[in-house]
Amino acid sequence: MPKSGAPYIELDLNKIYHNTLNLVKMYGAKNIGIMGVTKVVLGDPVIAECLTAAGIRYIGDSRIENIKKMRDNNVNAEFVLIRTPFINNAEQVVKYSDISFNTELTVIEELSKFAIKQNKEHKIVLMVEMGDLREGILKNNIEQFIGEIINLKGIKIIGIGTNLACFGGIKPTIAKMKELSEVAQTIEHKFKIELEFISGGNSANFEYLNKSNKDDRINNIRLGESIFLGCETLYRTPIDGLYQDAIFLIAEVIEANKKESIPSGENCQNAFGEIVTFIDKGEISRAILGLGRQDVDVDGLTPITDVNIIGSSSDHIILEDKNITLTVGDKVRFKLNYSALLSAMTSPYVKKIIINRH
Ligand SMILES: *Cc1c(COP(=O)(O)O)cnc(C)c1O
Repeated sequence: MPKSGAPYIELDLNKIYHNTLNLVKMYGAKNIGIMGVTKVVLGDPVIAECLTAAGIRYIGDSRIENIKKMRDNNVNAEFVLIRTPFINNAEQVVKYSDISFNTELTVIEELSKFAIKQNKEHKIVLMVEMGDLREGILKNNIEQFIGEIINLKGIKIIGIGTNLACFGGIKPTIAKMKELSEVAQTIEHKFKIELEFISGGNSANFEYLNKSNKDDRINNIRLGESIFLGCETLYRTPIDGLYQDAIFLIAEVIEANKKESIPSGENCQNAFGEIVTFIDKGEISRAILGLGRQDVDVDGLTPITDVNIIGSSSDHIILEDKNITLTVGDKVRFKLNYSALLSAMTSPYVKKIIINRH
């Protein structure tokens, strides 16, 4: 293992490759292509290349900065901007992404303007509102919407998509996927175009995948969490055959001591305006880590070592050390949920170490 100061994220590229390969196979068996979503790893080019090596052709990211980084590093993929663009950033969007997800006429008009200027054809996927109430064109408006953009120069509508189980917590069921497929049929029929891209969702679509006998048109799913954490996201169930331990967060002990389990003095709010309570266990063995809320969403951490997290502040996590073995300089390992991973990857204070690179 590489020597490095904590805190750091340790990401096993071989396990990510294995997960990607298997997901490509599982979805491929039902004629669904995978878009690899790299936002949680900030568009790291080495990781993106690992996804393409495992058979992924489309890389989706929510941030144009990440897409630019991957492109500048010669990652060989079609880049998809999966957060609908800022109207004031259309020039960059056309410049760096091959495809963008869209829901706003005025934005698409700007994309058209810059596509003409840059002498490019910019491809778009229209997001359809299917009940989760995040981004999406209302189903009733979509024909009129397309009518207004179909003749825009420099723009090609290549598909439609939807996003479920995100904001509103609505399941991507077989019925919802049929509904989206019907929207596709209607559009194709009315505008005499072929939609090559019907993108039905994200890591929450795994149950749909297993239940579906595929009498619909869904041919793309966008996966982030399943690739990196090895689970689906309706119930956070591990997916058979995938690694759930490809990524760890490692922190270092900066103080270890026996102290009371209950704070002493008059009670007040803590640094975050919370009223905290403690159970009296007498004196306990405590350890403090040099890792805090500025680095990671502490609620999303699960220690691998035999310790309990009893609290945290901006710069510290306080542990109860059940085995009374931790001393200063020791490392403590955590598994991360998606929120913890997203925050730790985004923290400039947390180093990122990729192991088992090919
Ligand atoms: C982040 C994101 C995804 C990937 O979601 P996971 O749950 O990580 O698979 C898919 N689509 C969109 C639009 C996203 O923003």
